[in-house]
Amino acid sequence: MSSMRERIYLSSPQVTETEIDYVTAALRSGWVAPLGPDVDAFEAEMCAYTGIGHAVALSSGTAAIHLGLLALGVNPGDDVIVPTLTFAATAFAVHHAGARPVFLDAEEQSWNLDPQLLDEVLTARAAAGRLPAAVIPVDLFGRTCDYAAIVEIAAKFAVPILEDAAEALGSACNGVSAGAFGEAGVFSFNGNKVMTTSGGGMFMTDDSALASKVRYWSTQAREPLPWYEHKEIGYNYRLSNVLAALGRGQLSRLDEMIKRRIANRAQYDLALGSIDGVSVVMDPPWGPGNAWLTNIRFDSALHPGAPEAIRLALEELNIESRPVWKPMHQQPVFADAECHLTGAADRIFADGLCLPSGPNVTEADIALVCETMVGVLHP
Ligand SMILES: *Cc1c(COP(=O)(O)O)cnc(C)c1O
Repeated sequence: MSSMRERIYLSSPQVTETEIDYVTAALRSGWVAPLGPDVDAFEAEMCAYTGIGHAVALSSGTAAIHLGLLALGVNPGDDVIVPTLTFAATAFAVHHAGARPVFLDAEEQSWNLDPQLLDEVLTARAAAGRLPAAVIPVDLFGRTCDYAAIVEIAAKFAVPILEDAAEALGSACNGVSAGAFGEAGVFSFNGNKVMTTSGGGMFMTDDSALASKVRYWSTQAREPLPWYEHKEIGYNYRLSNVLAALGRGQLSRLDEMIKRRIANRAQYDLALGSIDGVSVVMDPPWGPGNAWLTNIRFDSALHPGAPEAIRLALEELNIESRPVWKPMHQQPVFADAECHLTGAADRIFADGLCLPSGPNVTEADIALVCETMVGVLHP
């Protein structure tokens, strides 16, 4: 039976004739290179969409975090604060910069960096003369961090912020776009994000010097001379013009695709939200999110083992669901990293689940997911 129907994915890319037209035009233009008019236009359109002054199109969100850290002056041996509840790329980029991630726990409303814990850790480190070189708050699953608190705390200790908004394009905090907080921000256009260039990322900042530096490093640190002259180590991190064209097509439909994700989450909430011990995680009070992935959380006393039992029941029907990001402090590769924990991320990882959420998911798909979940929970 499950082989009859196409697999229902967590977040599959949606490509229409609009994107095909953009990409075809780019190919016909001859600009098949990591530069060209679509790269420039994509950057300008991202600035217009977010209200942020400068954008640099890059080959991935990870590359954008890496160069962002270098631009903020992070040096080998430095410490950088990273939420433990994130996708590994945030912490990997810290490693790529030669620095060490220091993992902090989450608050349980938005699942993002715990401001109170950040304040405690920075206070202790300031007293010891060991302030980190930067902090990377992550807007998890499309929900922004509590930036009113986080920006104030980081400013108190003069620690720069690089916002990992890889999952949060189209989200906001107190009326300001995700990606706009701190010194610089980062978006990802990987295949399953809220919009995609199949692979790509964007570095965003209001500081033109930071933008120039990142643009220069991303194109092999080439000096403006007729021959290849290099004064610094460079990277090959620029986005291709063909992929920028795909990004422009996606961006033109982004609000429509986000509307679909928000409607999907509302349908889950309507079907499941009233079940005792089950909650669909909604936006925090400080800002509307893009509902990238619908997260559901179970009360483990009422529904022991529910996330994995549901994941397996859905998989049997050829439906993809996924545990929440496994915290970095639980990852073997970061076993030796410093961490400051309250237990929140461990609880969220144990009790949470990500449900099919993309713009291709239909009302009937969601009804089937909910029916299956209710069958496992038998409330
Ligand atoms: C996807 C993601 C990244 C990395 O972006 P890529 O474009 O895949 O390199 C970084 N941080 C978070 C939180 C992400 O979800």
